[in-house]
Amino acid sequence: MGKLDGRVAIITGGARGQGESEARLFALEGATVIITDLLAEQGQRVAADIGGTFLRHDVTSEEDWAEVVEATVKAHGRIDVLVNNAGIYRKGNLRNTTLEDYRQVIDINQIGVFLGMQAVAATMIEAKRGSIVNISSIAGILGTPQSIAYGASKWAVRGMTKAAALDLGRFGIRVNSIHPGMIATDMMTEVTDGSDSRFAKMERAVPIGRAAQAGEIASVALFLASDDSSYATGAEFVIDGGITAM
Ligand code: NAP
Repeated sequence: MGKLDGRVAIITGGARGQGESEARLFALEGATVIITDLLAEQGQRVAADIGGTFLRHDVTSEEDWAEVVEATVKAHGRIDVLVNNAGIYRKGNLRNTTLEDYRQVIDINQIGVFLGMQAVAATMIEAKRGSIVNISSIAGILGTPQSIAYGASKWAVRGMTKAAALDLGRFGIRVNSIHPGMIATDMMTEVTDGSDSRFAKMERAVPIGRAAQAGEIASVALFLASDDSSYATGAEFVIDGGITAM
């Protein structure tokens, strides 16, 4: 028996990286998975592999969110889980970040999560159950270099998660955040400018001595999506190989 048998899960940014890994694991655990992303070809490939559905979706668009929710409810009658995973990183400190870059990061990483939670709330409230998993970062726990916009967006996700948990708890809906550290995905290539030596140097600075694989975040997302975490809400789950313990 799977931990998500009979459940319907929407995973944003599910075409690659951590979102893809979550989609594959959730499907293995019995969920019907709706992968959403801007990357249509990759998203369709993953959806076909796992017997799920791909929907092209820009998380910054309220109309797109309405369509994703409508299509999911029409096809499956319910939404049990939302993983707000889509995100971008733009390198920049206070002095060199343009307003355009700042707004783009906030739009996708912060407003996207707000719109997502708002979009699924009515359906979950009606069902009196649901789990929302918001992917923040250790950049939402600490100050991190070259991350003025990214850090702002991820601190906002951490705060919004708690506010939404307070709001939705009485309806049987749990809302939690995950705070990954250094995860070996395309985003990390951006952080390190594609430099293997910079990547290795960063890995040496992690107490566990390595970057995580995407699956090591997916297993925590599964825990939060499933009834195994039935009493956890408004909480932050730091999965960082010990970085924030320093
Ligand atoms: P990734 O491989 O870059 O995946 C992010 C996915 O989000 C991509 O498929 C991307 O598609 C999609 N996306 C971006 N903007 C979107 C939009 N407007 N609408 C819909 N989808 C959009 O990175 P990842 O590491 O898996 O990141 C997943 C989450 O973990 C992000 O929220 C990230 O901030 C967080 N995180 C990552 C790390 C890390 O070390 N990798 C650490 C802490 C937190 P496009 O290519 O089309 O943009």
